[in-house]
Amino acid sequence: MSETTEKIHPKVQDFLNKAPRKLFIGGQFIESSSGKTFKSVNPATGDDLCEVYEADERDIDRAVEAAEKAFHGPWSKMSASERSRLIWKLADLIEENLEPMAQLETLDNGKPIRETKNADVPLVIDHFRYYAGWVNKFSGEVVNNSMHPNIFTYTRREPIGVCGQIIPWNFPLLMAAWKLGAALATGNVVVLKSAQDTPLSALYLAELIQEAGFPDGVVNIISGSGRIVGTAMTKHPKIRKIAFTGSTEVGKTIMRDASYDLKRVTLELGGKSPNIVFPDADFSKAIPGALHSIFFNQGQVCSAGSRLFVHKKIYDNFLSDMANEASKLKVGPGLEEETQVGPLVSAKQFETVRGYLEKGKEEGAKPLTGGVPKEGPGYFIPPTIFADANEHMTIVREEIFGPVVAAMPFDDDEQIADVVRRANDSEYGLGAGVWTTDVRKAHKVAHALESGTVWVNCYNLFDAAMPFGGFKQSGFGREMGKYALEMYTEVKSVWVNLH
Ligand code: NAP
Ligand code: MG
Repeated sequence: MSETTEKIHPKVQDFLNKAPRKLFIGGQFIESSSGKTFKSVNPATGDDLCEVYEADERDIDRAVEAAEKAFHGPWSKMSASERSRLIWKLADLIEENLEPMAQLETLDNGKPIRETKNADVPLVIDHFRYYAGWVNKFSGEVVNNSMHPNIFTYTRREPIGVCGQIIPWNFPLLMAAWKLGAALATGNVVVLKSAQDTPLSALYLAELIQEAGFPDGVVNIISGSGRIVGTAMTKHPKIRKIAFTGSTEVGKTIMRDASYDLKRVTLELGGKSPNIVFPDADFSKAIPGALHSIFFNQGQVCSAGSRLFVHKKIYDNFLSDMANEASKLKVGPGLEEETQVGPLVSAKQFETVRGYLEKGKEEGAKPLTGGVPKEGPGYFIPPTIFADANEHMTIVREEIFGPVVAAMPFDDDEQIADVVRRANDSEYGLGAGVWTTDVRKAHKVAHALESGTVWVNCYNLFDAAMPFGGFKQSGFGREMGKYALEMYTEVKSVWVNLH
């Protein structure tokens, strides 16, 4: 932490000084049952950052018990306005703590401070405010049934109960917000597990949840491993729903584990998203857009535009301009204001991406820029553009989750069938980009792509009001927007005989 010590916000220093950080269960900060701890690492240096208590199955039992108590007690008795006010208050507290939360996120995850300050934390604030607004607006309906004139029929939207939420390390605080917003707005209670690589911002958030005045047990924040704690949550008989964001592989395990007692499951999984540039694209937007699509957050974005299809008429020019711009991106520790590309989150992720760089070269793709990991300390991989890739290559088929894009030419003109077929030739279907100034073509391609989100002349935009989620093996269910509220409620039909 040496290079950054002088910049550390006093609230962050205070947070780190209070290590080992405790679990947040039943409104209290408590040690884990086993007393075991683990260390979170600063990926810019590879040094230990903060010690954290590590939960096991017993702590999940405690958290579920506290959550159930809140669910049947104060939380369900609270008026909708009061619940809304609490969620709004939480957003206000996060806003007051924007600087330290952005810094803590940067320290723990590595991502550039300009992103945590201008994207992650502001999106979190907006997300909670958006869902605070839904609390008293999402309801069932009176149904005009067709056969029973003397029976009054209506539906109710009821909370599911205790929801287990398991989140990844790529947007630790934002993923927590995406999970909590809709769950709380619909009256559920939560046991949320952060990723072991990035437990800190969720624990800071827990302090603000306590300060906002949520009843004890409504939100419980757990640090611990997926294998132990995640499995205990997925198999816990009193957890009624699991909401998961992470790898497709673990998503499948969760679905199997959750099938035992038919828990509700929503999965937001990996991707290998196509980004298609037509010859009539506006280069001044498409080049920065294509860079942002893959290098934002070091490419550790489930919707990263990692397969770049560029029309053959513009392929050479587009790629050489893009490579030129990519080579100018400032790679460095996230806390430095000018950093545009920070370190990867962990040594493990660094090794994974390094392996893909080797594989890409072995299989004959040509690195136009990047391609060689930086020497340590820290887990830095420079932005890498592979040209001359093809569909048989591992770097085109598998999710890399790093700053590595594989570019391929296509040669459709008016017909778009071939590039759409190639774009859809993936087990995933999370995000996609289309760059063209022809509005007709833009909509045609957007409709033909098998993808939960399509961005036209933009990329990686997110908003609390817009649903986000996958087709195919990118998962199912939607986060954000009104759709997420449906994922956190059961529909009850009520029949009232008026005879
Ligand atoms: P991961 O293993 O799927 O981890 C995501 C979360 O699930 C973490 O909190 C993890 O816990 C937990 N987990 C792991 N095994 C579990 C199990 N058996 N039951 C319940 N929970 C479990 O993802 P990762 O290893 O961090 O990253 C691997 C790959 O996943 C990446 O390379 C990328 O392809 C993909 N990924 C996708 C997203 C996305 O937004 N869709 C985000 C991150 C990663 P711990 O890690 O704390 O043990
Ligand atoms: Mg860390």
